[in-house]
Amino acid sequence: MTNHEMTLLSSQPPFLLERAEAFLEVRNLSVRFPTDDGLVSAVNGMDFKLMRGQTLGIVGESGSGKSVTSQALMGLLKGTSAQVSGEILFGGQELVSLPESKMRQLRGRNIGMIFQDPLSALHPFYTVGHQIAEAYRVHNTATRKQAKSAAIEMLGRVGIPSPALRYDEYPHHFSGGMRQRAMIAMALICEPELLIADEPTTALDVTVQAQILDLMMELKQQADSAMILITHDLGVVAEVCDSVLVMYGGQCVETGAVEDIFYKTSHPYTLGLLNSMPSLSSAGERLNPIPGQPPSLLDLPSGCIFSERCEYSALAGPGVCSGSRPRLQLQDGHGKRCHLTVDQLSAISSAPSQPSERTGS
Ligand code: SF4
Repeated sequence: MTNHEMTLLSSQPPFLLERAEAFLEVRNLSVRFPTDDGLVSAVNGMDFKLMRGQTLGIVGESGSGKSVTSQALMGLLKGTSAQVSGEILFGGQELVSLPESKMRQLRGRNIGMIFQDPLSALHPFYTVGHQIAEAYRVHNTATRKQAKSAAIEMLGRVGIPSPALRYDEYPHHFSGGMRQRAMIAMALICEPELLIADEPTTALDVTVQAQILDLMMELKQQADSAMILITHDLGVVAEVCDSVLVMYGGQCVETGAVEDIFYKTSHPYTLGLLNSMPSLSSAGERLNPIPGQPPSLLDLPSGCIFSERCEYSALAGPGVCSGSRPRLQLQDGHGKRCHLTVDQLSAISSAPSQPSERTGS
């Protein structure tokens, strides 16, 4: 099948999982930051949907725009110099144009966030229990006593031993893994419908990482929440996600069900990410990093944004990849942004490294 036989996407966002009804829909989301050197295009025309109960992994190298996307979803760029355009539809409400006062009501209550560094979310001067109880009181009509008992129960649910005693301790009394559990407790105490986790386990060792991921998935399932997991770790994505969105240079370059991304890889960049993954079975072997550097977001190439690093651009024909930027093409819920035909992509991706075991970062 040629590219022309595939569905060309223009205004229609990719339907990652079409069976259920989406309650988060992102349309043509772009984020730009004015700097002294010009406009930095951090996110360029993102489209995706998320269904209740599903987990979407957003992956890419540092600077690919995945964290800025999550900040835009949380409304954390409001009141900054960032220029955010497009639409974020959440439960029928459009969030890009929503005033900060209304967004604040959604944050915590309907949308929870887990950060890489719990110390950035936990205040050092207040006890852990007090902060979780206050998060509960902001969004619920509850007495201090009721909020304290909800916080103690939540600390117990996230696996903090002796939660009634640990309630009165400060963040610096907790280990890294325990602080991450406390932040998960704070994010989940109001049972948000959407949980956004930005590199939640990157700073933890592999054993604790596995425990925290299992805990997040268990609590997400109990609350029937949806989750967006931002990570550079494809091993984590393979283990916990239903669908995946691969970002490069602020754009989605490939999207689909997790099986499509790992077993029918359709973009040279995703292929490069998979081949650069460490795995337990290849211990001692050299890693295969993608050569070169990501493009400058101040001056993106006019052709394919991956063209300067892509080892397959010659297959598309002379000047094709550097001449025009490919559009996202979708077939059976699997989207890719590449000029190569499906047959060419199948040939080059016939033997990618497959993630079979959870690996450390
Ligand atoms: Fe590589 Fe060309 Fe595909 Fe871009 S469009 S990923 S340069 S083959």
